[in-house]
Amino acid sequence: MTHQFTTIKELRDTLDHWESAGESLAFVPTMGALHAGHLTLVAEAKRHAKRVIVSIFVNPTQFGPQEDFNQYPRTVDADIAQLTEAGADGVWLPTVEEIYPNGPRATLKAGTAAEGLEGAVRPGHFDGVVTVVARLFEVVRPKVALFGEKDYQQLCVIRQMVEAQKFPVDIIAVPTIREEDGLAMSSRNRYLSPTGRALATRINQVLRHSAYVMKTEGRGVAETLEKAETLLQDAGFDRVDYVALRDATTLAPLTAYKAGARLLVAVRLGATRLIDNIEV
Ligand code: AMP
Repeated sequence: MTHQFTTIKELRDTLDHWESAGESLAFVPTMGALHAGHLTLVAEAKRHAKRVIVSIFVNPTQFGPQEDFNQYPRTVDADIAQLTEAGADGVWLPTVEEIYPNGPRATLKAGTAAEGLEGAVRPGHFDGVVTVVARLFEVVRPKVALFGEKDYQQLCVIRQMVEAQKFPVDIIAVPTIREEDGLAMSSRNRYLSPTGRALATRINQVLRHSAYVMKTEGRGVAETLEKAETLLQDAGFDRVDYVALRDATTLAPLTAYKAGARLLVAVRLGATRLIDNIEV
């Protein structure tokens, strides 16, 4: 059974012990409801350090007032069983009070990578993300931290925050883990009805098709993005929040295809929002 920690004191006692034994530390922050994507982050973390700590914290400051904070899936017992199996050394389940001693507010501003895309649809979301990740880093002080490309904009925003705050941590990106039909694994997929789940497979198909036509047929970016949006709309999604081509590092919008560009999408199906992205 993996160690479980609630208080910062319990966690730090063990981390200090490992540190004094000269053991390096990798950190995987999550919101729980773990799936194979999260476990791949843990497996990758084990390749980078002797010890691996996973946090499970549904961070209130990254949810908007109309969002699913209360409904977000919480499956702690199953999560701990999976982390034990995956060989994590410890799981930290902090309280909101210890993370936010002055009340749950975002006190750090996300950088330019937060502009547009999720940042436009979810105002304040990335301020909440950088606030909590900075707080977790201050407590855990890992050598490396792992994040999934599934949340590609989040990854870019965190890299900017680490640079701005000068955290001595290496950020490692892990490619998106997918279901057999290409759907990106997500804690929110469990909300999908059987019809919704069948439809969701279209997201990655449309992304791959659009990337293909831009890259190999040299079709224009604006035209391709528009076509992708129509394909998703016609497939039956309730709303397409965006289909966008961005620079892979700065996330600046691109009007012409260039190697390594990132194609990102967000759609809604009932109350569920699904996001995905691929390298073009
Ligand atoms: P979450 O619990 O959804 O906040 O995710 C915790 C971490 O797992 C983040 O770095 C996510 O990007 C990553 N993650 C979530 N889903 C996947 C996936 N399908 N493949 C790879 N990483 C993922």
